[in-house]
Amino acid sequence: MFKPHTMSIIFMILIILITGCERKADPLPQSRIEEKQSPSKSKPIQMISQVNIDSIPILMYHSIGNNPSSTLFVPPKLFHKQMEHLKNAGYHTMTFKDLINWKTGEMIPDKPILITFDDGYLDNFTIVYPILKKLQMRATIFATSDFIGYPNHLNWEQIKEMEQSRYVEIGAHTRHHAELTKNTPLQLVDEVWGAKQKMEKRLGHPIIAFAYPSGKFNQKVLQVVKRAGFEFAVTTKPGFAVKNQGFLTLHRVRIPEGQPMAAFIQEFP
Ligand SMILES: [Zn+2]
Repeated sequence: MFKPHTMSIIFMILIILITGCERKADPLPQSRIEEKQSPSKSKPIQMISQVNIDSIPILMYHSIGNNPSSTLFVPPKLFHKQMEHLKNAGYHTMTFKDLINWKTGEMIPDKPILITFDDGYLDNFTIVYPILKKLQMRATIFATSDFIGYPNHLNWEQIKEMEQSRYVEIGAHTRHHAELTKNTPLQLVDEVWGAKQKMEKRLGHPIIAFAYPSGKFNQKVLQVVKRAGFEFAVTTKPGFAVKNQGFLTLHRVRIPEGQPMAAFIQEFP
């Protein structure tokens, strides 16, 4: 239990962090980042193109399963077909660690694409992960940190296993799937910064990507995400990710639950 004056010091620090103070975020020191990144370093990918690619599709999924009453579920068979198509059409799946090269203008693979899953549902491990392994494709899961280990959600062991396989990168999605634009400044720091710190402590490496729950953000939210030290953040604004959107407000392509394969193929030829 904190004493009152301790609480007021904590409160002051949090306020300074999210208000006018120009102090930079408090990311891990560079040396520690490099050291910590190495165990879960991305699987080497063949650098195929040096073309200055301006726009990259970042696909957005949630659950892969059968639930006709929810728009958040894509049926497993359809998802499998979609991934097979991307593979056969020559797309190269990247994670956000790979996307650093895009940010800094370095080489990235030809036909790049990112596959993302929000919320951290259990089927991401039981259904998605085997498909990724089989097809040697990679994806990012934005987990809600304080729901990890809850029923129907991923647990830490599953997350660690997927990360170690190098087919999956984990990103943050707040502590409690907060509606950030309605949060107080204190809650905002707790949800964004708190999720990052908790995940980094459990997984032992920096968490560089963030997804806004329900895609909701404003300037205050954006500043907290920036100061927390995230390299990338994704919204639910529709469309391909383009550099001039800003790396903390990248757009994504939602994959609807009942999209016919023909439409998917047309969108990603
Ligand atoms: Zn979500």
